[in-house]
Amino acid sequence: MSYVLRNALIPTASGYETTDVRIEGEQIAAIGKGLLAGAPDSVELNADNKLLLPGFVNAHTHSSELWQRGIIPPYPLELWLAQLHEYAPPDPEKIYLSALATAVETLLSGGTTVVDHLILIPGQELATVEAAVRAYREVGIRAFIGPLLQDQALPACLPGGEGGSAAYPLSTAEVLAMLEEAIQKYHRPEEGISLMVAPTGIQLCSDKLFEGCAELSQKYNLPRHAHLLETRAQQLLAQEKYGCSAVEHLERLGYLDRKTSLAHCVWLTASDIEILARTGSTVVHNPLSNLRLGSGIAPILKYRQAGVNVAFGCDGAASNDSQDLLEAIKIGTILHNVTDPDYRHWISPRESVEMASRGGAIGLGLGDKLGSLEVGKQADLVLYDLTQLSLLPRTDPIGLLVLGRPTQAVHSVWIRGKQVVADGEVTTVDVAKLRQELFRHSSWDPFRRSQQAAQLEARYRQVMGLPG
Ligand SMILES: [Zn+2]
Repeated sequence: MSYVLRNALIPTASGYETTDVRIEGEQIAAIGKGLLAGAPDSVELNADNKLLLPGFVNAHTHSSELWQRGIIPPYPLELWLAQLHEYAPPDPEKIYLSALATAVETLLSGGTTVVDHLILIPGQELATVEAAVRAYREVGIRAFIGPLLQDQALPACLPGGEGGSAAYPLSTAEVLAMLEEAIQKYHRPEEGISLMVAPTGIQLCSDKLFEGCAELSQKYNLPRHAHLLETRAQQLLAQEKYGCSAVEHLERLGYLDRKTSLAHCVWLTASDIEILARTGSTVVHNPLSNLRLGSGIAPILKYRQAGVNVAFGCDGAASNDSQDLLEAIKIGTILHNVTDPDYRHWISPRESVEMASRGGAIGLGLGDKLGSLEVGKQADLVLYDLTQLSLLPRTDPIGLLVLGRPTQAVHSVWIRGKQVVADGEVTTVDVAKLRQELFRHSSWDPFRRSQQAAQLEARYRQVMGLPG
């Protein structure tokens, strides 16, 4: 199938221009005024008053958290996690539905790629991955699925406690064997579905797990992912576990490289930042969950000044509590203005669009294939309707897209050259039916409280120096 988009507005170095764009197969085949139609089956689309941008990457999320959005009380990460684990969805059908919904919300907020750090159902790990793969294939979104791995139990995530001795049901070798089986079964990058190695983070993973993941990443050429220093408690834990910072330790383990993306990165020092720059690692900025969980403000301006690549993520919907990528980009752009009085360091809307698209692609090792409007790049494209009320009056389209509150702004989306959104509607899956299914599989449940969180609370308050 090929498409010719007529008169799309695209950004240029000096402003915008109106031009045509031809998509052939999976790629952007031509950009220029007055392009000839493509093959006989070519579809022509009027892109008058529409802005064409490369698709964004939702560079860190956990799709199944959708089932718990809105419900977890105002807790810091460690207590929030206890409640999340306790009420995680236990069946693959729910995993499938929440992956569908995550993909749809990502598409309708400008995203064409989702990185799903997928929480696994204990004992049904491969079925969990299979359910997410099925959903992403149906939607047609480009997906990177990183089965969320750990080989230590939850109490190990706090300093001053059991450390790595807390029992976890699977051994490190069993966890790695399960990951390798998932890679062999489901890693199909040529079909838009990729696996990635994704230990959850230093707080619940042994060195052997990180090293095993790095080996599998080498063996199958997979991107690497992990949470990194999301909270102050994790920073304290790293010192206790390793006697050095978590970043120094991960570098020693050989986990950091150009295909490594690290979610959060709130509590890093200047020398940690230098290590990320040197190793070419990517920071995934999740501003909404950092605010929601009180984790802190990631020093994004410092990363940018040090030359560290930065991408945006929504993070899981139980700590956000949405999957609106444009919202994450807006907050993640303006939040940092309060951290540095020198406004010349602040992030411009154009820079944030670049971080969300090209920055996301670079973090997945795909900077040469994805993330910009260039002939030969993959046609992962989003067309925004600039006549929607939220994008009027006519000023700077990217400025308003990022700084405004765009509603129903996404008109069309192509991923790998296939159109998956047209006239603001997802064309590949039945969204009305999805809404019914989400409704049917849930109930109003505002007062659910977690026993695990209550058990962990006294220790958390002691470790963090809070009154008893
Ligand atoms: Zn996360």
